[in-house]
Parts: sequence; structure tokens; C-alpha cells
Amino acid sequence: MIPVTTFAGRTVAVFGLGGSGLATCHALIAGGADVIAFDDNEKKVAEAAAAKVATADLRNIDWSKIAALILTPGVPLTHPEPHWSAKLAQAAGVEVIGDVELFCRERRKHAPSAPFVAITGTNGKSTTTALIAHLLRHAGRDVQMGGNIGVPVLQLEPPEPQRHYVIECSSYQIDLAPSIDPTVGIMLNVTPDHIDRHGTIEHYAAVKSRILGRAKTRIIGVDDDYGRGMARELAAMQRPVVPISINRIVPHGYVGGEHNIYRTGGSEAEDIADLTGIGSLRGSHNMQNAVAAIAACSALGVDDKTLQDGLRSFPGLAHRMEEIGKKGEVLFINDSKATNADSAAKALASFDRIYWIAGGLPKEGGIASLAEFFPKIVKAYLIGKAAPEFAQTLDGKVSYEIAGTLDVAVEHAARDALEAGKPAAVLLSPACASFDQFPNFEVRGNRFRELVQRLVT
Ligand code: ADP
Repeated sequence: MIPVTTFAGRTVAVFGLGGSGLATCHALIAGGADVIAFDDNEKKVAEAAAAKVATADLRNIDWSKIAALILTPGVPLTHPEPHWSAKLAQAAGVEVIGDVELFCRERRKHAPSAPFVAITGTNGKSTTTALIAHLLRHAGRDVQMGGNIGVPVLQLEPPEPQRHYVIECSSYQIDLAPSIDPTVGIMLNVTPDHIDRHGTIEHYAAVKSRILGRAKTRIIGVDDDYGRGMARELAAMQRPVVPISINRIVPHGYVGGEHNIYRTGGSEAEDIADLTGIGSLRGSHNMQNAVAAIAACSALGVDDKTLQDGLRSFPGLAHRMEEIGKKGEVLFINDSKATNADSAAKALASFDRIYWIAGGLPKEGGIASLAEFFPKIVKAYLIGKAAPEFAQTLDGKVSYEIAGTLDVAVEHAARDALEAGKPAAVLLSPACASFDQFPNFEVRGNRFRELVQRLVT
């Protein structure tokens, strides 16, 4: 745990008592602050009280005595409107910040030279974060990874001069971290998402770009308009950036080709890594993530040979085009995290001859946007509520069956793929949320893994 000492002897209000909220309370208490915690959910308040955290309805406290409100990133700071606790704090002139901001202040106070990589973007944050942590560990560095991925940031080990922090940041966390000052800031990509929480895409992009403002090295994906705009603005302010791209040559940056990654100078390019045969980094989207990771680790002084070796041993993340097994020439791929058509498109683009398991709780727009991939689909096995709607879209274009459940779909898809005896992928990439049949996408992916393991062993 990282004790938060910057509020020692003062009283801090904490709103939101999920996993990271409770970790924040303990970190503040360990650092000597008095904490008053609350949540709109009574159960969470009771759990905090049971964990020896003082709780009180923040509507009834004297805000003039409060040094800061620590808000959980799950609740709105601005859009569609500020949460009531943020309104009370703002009316009393009390700063509203989050756990990443507390981490930044502790790092500045105790070990400002501790390397800190902060990663954001609409897509690919977790993969890039995990890959950077993996490459740095492979290079023998002392690495702490957390934030929006896995462990809440304040539950990590305390800052020390040579301890590296690799922190995934959602836009909500950045919104609550006004002084974020990473050694390396990464802005992977910006596409419309979460606009409900940020009002407009411009505001969303502006929030995300804050990860770069005070960074020593600023890595920006320039394959979308917003990334390009940010790079231009920063360059105009004489703040150098390291551009990354997977579809054009950018000078003084990093570029991903079909398989290789290049470091570019003014006019020359140096071939520094090759992703051929690395199953955990299939697909052009993972090329973008790998290019970003290479750029970050290079900025931290890791040599090219170590990076290439490290890429080869990256295990990948569960539920994201995760290779579960192989039988004969058939690969079994768990892409349960693909809860919308855009994500499923990435997986469908990455394989030929696909036995596709799709469906669940449908999202607006369905799978019509995936038509360009239909010729690669040998057969679709449809599950959950979306099955009839998906069947209508596929009718006459792709062979399909309404399998109903994941169990039946896996059994039939495996049987058909193995009988055909050709190289193929049995791919769970549902393009749907899981909630009609599973508690979440992880449980859905774990069930797929279980079923496949029975088949391949
Ligand atoms: P995040 O943490 O931002 O949600 P993940 O690394 O967990 O991202 O990947 C989630 C899904 O997003 C993947 O399964 C893939 O479909 C898609 N994805 C991953 N990286 C990228 C990228 N660089 N660009 C576009 N889509 C991506």
C-alpha cells in the first residue's frame, strides 16, 4: 500500500466505496489523515464501517473542515451533471480529486525520479499497459502495474527511486488528476466513446490529452484526427512529441508496418522489432499497442534486443483474442471482451476460415457493420438474446445455426471445424454484452476456456 501522507492531520471526505475507494480510505488513514467515507449504496457504507473506516452522510458534514473530496472515478464530475457530493465540495471551495492524483503527489514527495508511465486511449489501454510492464520486467526493472487495470494504484508498493509505475488511466481518472506528471505519457487513440460522461468528443479528447501536458516524453497515436490535432497543438507550444502510427510514415517517431516496427529519424527508418508469429499480438490493433509499448520502453532506456525478446514472451491478456488451445489445425480463440461490433471486427480481421460464436445481449446497430468479414466466416453459431437479430443479418450471406447457449455453440463449432480438417479458428468474439446469460464477460470467457480445454486435452 502507498500511505498518502500529503493530507496527514487533515480531514478528507471520500465518496465511492468500491474496490479503489476502500483502498483510498486505507491509504489516507495509513498516512495520518482523518477520513469520512460515504457511498449512495448502503451496503458499501456498511462494508467500509466494518473495515474500520469512519462513515457519515456527506450531506450532513461541515465542509469548511474538509481538505479535499476524493471521488471514485465511477461517478460523474461534470457530465451529465456533477454528482451531489462534488457539488457540495465545489460550493465549499474544496478540491475534488481522485486516487491517481494522490499517487502523483506521493511520488513527487518521496521519489520524484521513480519512472512513471501513464497510458490512456479509447481502446488498447490494458493490452499496452500489460505489455509495457512485461517488457520492463523482462529488462530486469522493478515494476508496479495497476490503476484502471487490476490493482488500484494506492494498493501498489510505495515509490522508490528505481521503482517503475505502469499505470492505466481511464479518462475519468485523468479528469480527477489535475497535476498528473508522468515520465512517459501515452495517448493511444481517440474514438467516440463515453461521450455521455464528457459531454462532447472535444471535451473527452481534451481530458485525455492532459496525460501528455506535463509528461517528459509524450507518445501520441496520430492515426485519428484527435491524436493528430493534439500532436499539432503540442508542437506549436514547443513541446516535443513522439508520434506513433500504423498507417503512415511519421518522422522522429515509431511506425508499425505489416509485421515490423521501425524507429524513424528525419528520413531514415531503423527496423527494431518483428511481431511475426507472436500469437498474443495478432492484428493491426495490437501492432498499435506494441508500437506504443516499444516507444515507451525505448524512452526509458531499454535496448532493442531486450525489447524483441520480451515481445516474444508476452502472454497476452485473458479474453482478448486469447489463444486457448489448438487441436489439429484448429485454433480456439477467446475474445469474450469483444462486447461490441467494433471490437469483434478486430478479431474477425485477424483470422481466415472462422467458425464464429457470437451473440449475447445485443448492442445498437447489431453486426451489420461486419459485412466485409462475412466471406471469411465458414459458419456462425448464435447464442443469447441477439441470436434472432443476428440470424436476420446473416441470412443468405453466411451459413449459421441458432445454438442458443455457449456450451452447444462450442460443441458444434469444434465438431464442424475438426471435421473439415483445414486450418481454421473457432472464435468466441460475441459483439454483445454477456449479461443475458453470464454475470460478465470474464465468466463467459472462462466458461469458453473450460469447454475448450475439455475438447483439446
Ligand atoms: P481497453 O483497456 O482500452 O478497453 P484492451 O487492451 O482491454 O483495451 O482491449 C479491448 C479490446 O479493444 C480488444 O479486444 C480489441 O478488440 C480492441 N483493441 C485493443 N487494442 C486496440 C487498439 N489499439 N485500437 C483499436 N482497438 C483495440
